[in-house]
Amino acid sequence: MNSKEKIASTQAEGEELLENKVMIEVKNLTKKFNGFTAVDHISFDVKESEIFGLLGPNGAGKTTIIRMLSTLTRPTEGTASIGGYDIVKQDNKVRQLIGLVSEKMIMYDRLTAEENLRFFGKLYNIPKNTLNQRIDELLELVQLGKWKDSKVGTFSTGMRQRMNVIRALLNMPKVLFLDEPTLGLDPQSTVEVREFIKKINRENQTTIILTTHMMTEADRLCDRIGIIDHGKISTLDTSTNLKKLVSGGDTTVLKLEIPNLTKKMVAAIQALDCVKSVSQENAAHLKIHATGNEAFDSIIDAARANKAKINSVENLQPTLEDVFLYITGREVRDKADNKIAMPNRRHFRPKQRIR
Ligand code: ATP
Repeated sequence: MNSKEKIASTQAEGEELLENKVMIEVKNLTKKFNGFTAVDHISFDVKESEIFGLLGPNGAGKTTIIRMLSTLTRPTEGTASIGGYDIVKQDNKVRQLIGLVSEKMIMYDRLTAEENLRFFGKLYNIPKNTLNQRIDELLELVQLGKWKDSKVGTFSTGMRQRMNVIRALLNMPKVLFLDEPTLGLDPQSTVEVREFIKKINRENQTTIILTTHMMTEADRLCDRIGIIDHGKISTLDTSTNLKKLVSGGDTTVLKLEIPNLTKKMVAAIQALDCVKSVSQENAAHLKIHATGNEAFDSIIDAARANKAKINSVENLQPTLEDVFLYITGREVRDKADNKIAMPNRRHFRPKQRIR
């Protein structure tokens, strides 16, 4: 049965499901490890041909969700289906519909690009002629056609990651899981892999779930984004709507340039009732989330009262970083740079929470 026929038979089994064009349905999915709840009763749907992002910090539970959906580990509670097939009761059917790219993928350095793909293609029992044609098409799709006979050991990290992705496409999956697809890649390879993900989605109508802790990645690639924190989806929407959570109502995001910035000034601004959070971007720039009509004046007054020389004030459009900070009260990145976040939880009241 080819993948189109599989979908057709799925359609017969789950007419209602596909009428609504839902490809992945997740209900109360939960995973516990020795009493620790890594994924906590999450529910969401992903539509056919959608790129759906799970965005969250390290340890949020993203990989565990992907591992359950791709049948690598069983849920402790809850259910999920892919193309109408239950991930536990019909795991073999699910596996025929999906491809998975995770950081633990192995490529054989001493084999050429083509030999690697042929090796993995045989595991799917793809007939030889079909496999040869598919390998050529996939290598062309990721612009690796001219490297077909080169050993993978000579490839850059970006080229290897593109190989990893096309390996997951050998069985023409209707659904592709990408777990942190650009993790560890240099900026140029990151752009290449992102472009390629969009291309697969556009040209093959592949439904994609990707996990990332990178705001820009989620913003650029995903039709909808679920913000995941401590094993729960706290909010789920399009990037535009998520940003409206911050920009709607009376919330303001300001960027102040203060060349003589001191800790005392930061503390004075932070102490204002209207201020929800202050991040120091570098020695002279502060990013401030505040609420209320008086926020602008109060912040400028507090800075000036502490002898701040204000060079500029910008009213910023919110980013997904702001959304995450707004929803969870902390920053998504586990970074050790000089940026500090000092959210004031008194004011953190998300306007919308989807459970
Ligand atoms: P990361 O990007 O760091 O992998 P993540 O959002 O993908 O983050 P998970 O890998 O799903 O998070 O892990 C979620 C939580 O579950 C973490 O606290 C992790 O330590 C824990 N966890 C994951 N797998 C296991 C396991 N096999 N046994 C025990 N705990 C686990």
